[in-house]
Amino acid sequence: TIIDQQEAGALTPGFDLDDCSAIVYEPLSGYADASGTTLAYAAQARNLGVRTALRTSATELEITGGKITGVVSSQGRISAERVIVAAGAWSSGLLEQCGVSLPLTVSRHEVAAFTRPSASISSLPGATDLVNQTYFRPEGTDLLLAGGGGPGEPVEDPSVYGHRPTQKSIESVWTQLTKRIPMMKQTEYTNGFAGLYTSTPDRHPIIDQVNGIEGLFICAGFSGHGFKLAPAAGATVAELVIDGQTSTIDISPLQLSRFATGPNSEAGLLSESGDDVVI
Ligand SMILES: Cc1cc2nc3c(=O)[nH]c(=O)nc-3n(C[C@H](O)[C@H](O)[C@H](O)COP(=O)(O)OP(=O)(O)OC[C@H]3O[C@@H](n4cnc5c(N)ncnc54)[C@H](O)[C@@H]3O)c2cc1C
Repeated sequence: TIIDQQEAGALTPGFDLDDCSAIVYEPLSGYADASGTTLAYAAQARNLGVRTALRTSATELEITGGKITGVVSSQGRISAERVIVAAGAWSSGLLEQCGVSLPLTVSRHEVAAFTRPSASISSLPGATDLVNQTYFRPEGTDLLLAGGGGPGEPVEDPSVYGHRPTQKSIESVWTQLTKRIPMMKQTEYTNGFAGLYTSTPDRHPIIDQVNGIEGLFICAGFSGHGFKLAPAAGATVAELVIDGQTSTIDISPLQLSRFATGPNSEAGLLSESGDDVVI
């Protein structure tokens, strides 16, 4: 719903909205704790009979006669007729071994947590601020988590990157944040983290079967929005693997072949230059 500044002001005490010509309000939007959600998925999968192997790396995909037959891992070989490569930034490396090249780039993005002057800002919605290229949401009762938009820092080797925000980025996101919420000038940085976006040229994932290798599937390239897409991605990949096609959603725009003759050639989805500001 598009709302006016007066309506928005009632929802966002302490915000300066003077420079906002359009404000979109999504009453049903929300946020969830990423690691808690991931652990919950894993726990429920185990309840349903899935075996999880922590601290176990897949090192090689075993292909015999054009079919996947197993995965070699740091804990030994696992026989498998169907394998899904969903290894985020590491997906390209695994698939390169079988001659499949993915158009993925990896970039580092940072999130910083600041104390919230809770007496002044008692309630705070999560928001994406396209004017100041930031996004933020409450964390617990007294913190605010904020990240910046923009392309992030390119990463050559996904195993080697700084896991903490830099001083420069903390200052930058704080400066942008205080333009929208002036009371955040009285804040302290508490901690933060950095992680990786793995992106295709159109910023949409690749969910597909690998041509020419029976039983091998790809689910990677979620850029800055893979968390919220995870339930739908999981459901469609399950259909693809079990039924050979999806019934819930048509995922043909997410095939790898859309990049065969150049970025966005078939899908025409997002522009290559579109920055991610993700909530
Ligand atoms: C700072 C930041 C903020 C974000 N905010 C949001 C947000 O607000 N909303 C949103 O929707 N998304 C957000 N994202 C994006 C989201 O986190 C990603 O899109 C999502 O995690 C991608 O999921 P994935 O499963 O493809 O890859 P990953 O989450 O990277 O998972 C891949 C897994 O594979 C494992 N792995 C790698 N190689 C191997 C191997 N050889 N063998 C076995 N396992 C392997 C890795 O250890 C990892 O656990 C954010 C990302 C960052 C960095």
